[in-house]
Amino acid sequence: MDFIPYSCQNIDAADIEAVTSVLCSEYLTQGPAVTRFEGLFAELHQVKHTVAVANATAGLHIACLALGVGQGKRVWTSPNSFLASANCALYCGADIDFVDIDPATRNMSVAALQTKLDQALPAGTLPHVVIPVDFAGLSCDLREMRALADRYGFRILEDASHATGASYLGRPIGSQYADATVFSFHAVKIVTTAEGGLVATQHDELAAKLRLLRSHGMTREASSLLNTPDGPWYYEQQCLGYNYRITDIQAALGSSQLARLPNMHAARAELAMRYDEALQGLPLRLPARSTDSVSAWHLYAVEVTGAQPSKVRRKLFDDLRAAGVGVNVHYIPIHTQPHFRQLGFAPGDFPAAEAYYAGAISLPLFPALTQAQQARIVDAIRRSLSA
Ligand SMILES: *Cc1c(COP(=O)(O)O)cnc(C)c1O
Repeated sequence: MDFIPYSCQNIDAADIEAVTSVLCSEYLTQGPAVTRFEGLFAELHQVKHTVAVANATAGLHIACLALGVGQGKRVWTSPNSFLASANCALYCGADIDFVDIDPATRNMSVAALQTKLDQALPAGTLPHVVIPVDFAGLSCDLREMRALADRYGFRILEDASHATGASYLGRPIGSQYADATVFSFHAVKIVTTAEGGLVATQHDELAAKLRLLRSHGMTREASSLLNTPDGPWYYEQQCLGYNYRITDIQAALGSSQLARLPNMHAARAELAMRYDEALQGLPLRLPARSTDSVSAWHLYAVEVTGAQPSKVRRKLFDDLRAAGVGVNVHYIPIHTQPHFRQLGFAPGDFPAAEAYYAGAISLPLFPALTQAQQARIVDAIRRSLSA
């Protein structure tokens, strides 16, 4: 019986051709393919500036720096995310804290954010940056978060690693509300460059800072030089940056993938709808539907309900793996990790994220998943839950 992975990249002949043509060209990196990819991505997401980087973790790091995160600053994110959403603040020497999730959407709860802000205001501990995460590809309640950001004076760095091509209130993710939005192109994500990421922003100054930070803090741009050039070779380091560049090989793959984004989205949405129908009536909480958003459907995550969810989830996980179904779990709440416990966090701190995690299981979802495979998955779930 063939193994069905939980996610799988979608590579076609055009992708291979795009990559090989870069390999035969003049530039493997810092050439025209990166600029082209950034342009295509900007157009698709209706955003003014796009800065492609080596991976989303690097993007989150330099976006934090560009937004002024540093020692003595506080950053809040969702405990139901990948580690990178919190680590980026720690890289900058800032303090990290979390805001619990809404059990229905599994995204940062606006009500919990409001409560935490009301407590932080008199204590003088307001955050500098809040990093909401569009879990599974479903947008956070960004309109409400923007209102809070304007009232309490923090910036929004949206982690849209799951949400390439998703939309919210009729506009593409990244085009409004957040100060900067980060996307991931890791192999399991919606669109891949193998490893890769991108920071999108509507702000000119932020974009300029991100471009500097991506490449050693260095520039050759005549209009922005601080000193007078002593020759045409002149370059200038204006701040401490990194080598977080993406290659032309990767960017060419990204551009080729973007051409299929609508088709890949449609395939994911169709599979999600089939799961919705096929799993009706089982003791599972299915992903929330929202009229505000079109999800990118990076994940189809269900939650075991009823008594002893973690025990039932363990059995379901083992049964599905034994049946050749590559299920996974997203996410172990970040604050319960040993590294974060050393920082003072403890189990019980964010009960909604912990309760979700106890029963969470992600089912296979990727564009090439067939209906026959999906039927096999559903069948294995039914057998496990009834035994
Ligand atoms: C994948 C992911 C990241 C990190 O992406 P990389 O490109 O692997 O660095 C960050 N945040 C979330 C929510 C992710 O899913």
